[in-house]
Amino acid sequence: MPLIGVTPARDKSTHKLTINQDYMDAVIRAGGTPVLLPLLSDQKRLTALLSQLDGLLLSGGEDVSPALYGEEKEAFCGDTDDLRDETEFILCREAVRRDLPVLAICRGVQVLNAALGGTLYQDIASQLPGALVHPRNDQPKAPVHGMQIHERTLLFSILGQEKIKVNSRHHQAVKAAAPGLCVNAEAPDGLIEGLEMPGKRFVLGVQWHPESLSEKHPEAQALFDALVRSCAQK
Ligand code: MN
Repeated sequence: MPLIGVTPARDKSTHKLTINQDYMDAVIRAGGTPVLLPLLSDQKRLTALLSQLDGLLLSGGEDVSPALYGEEKEAFCGDTDDLRDETEFILCREAVRRDLPVLAICRGVQVLNAALGGTLYQDIASQLPGALVHPRNDQPKAPVHGMQIHERTLLFSILGQEKIKVNSRHHQAVKAAAPGLCVNAEAPDGLIEGLEMPGKRFVLGVQWHPESLSEKHPEAQALFDALVRSCAQK
């Protein structure tokens, strides 16, 4: 049973780490064992911790600090957490370097992209007028917009279809993909909804929330199944 490290959010007001149980359930259904990770900025400890894991799941949450992709923070950017940014950038870069399987969800795909040198839209509605409404937090478990999956990608090989509908709970998005990452999915407005890294065992990022859909939608659960399968194939 592969061990999948899952990164948490931190509620600064209550000083508690938080994770939506849906991530854990989806990993467990896939046959993996999820392990909730700490937030800490000690590179040595984090890399030692990674050595105990078979895969990494970067979960959703607050915005990535724009300083980390070379921009000033605009008024329309949301809350950020420097400790979480630091933890996840270290884990993500090191996991990719070691070719450890990584599934990056929502904020996770943004972390993956920024950690490897890409950029983000700080707020879709402010910077891309005319785009679809992507922060549909009113409908957390409802597929609200279509998605074009690019053929000859890892994502396509998992889903086996070109078009799916997904939920959407993000106000930020990938702007320029990092070197080495390729786009595997786009929303009907052209927004990047997924990234992956060719040549690696499994580095997959999605902008939607498959964990919230995975109980009832096999194509959402399939992403977790593929992550766990790739961890088992060393
Ligand atoms: Mn979306």
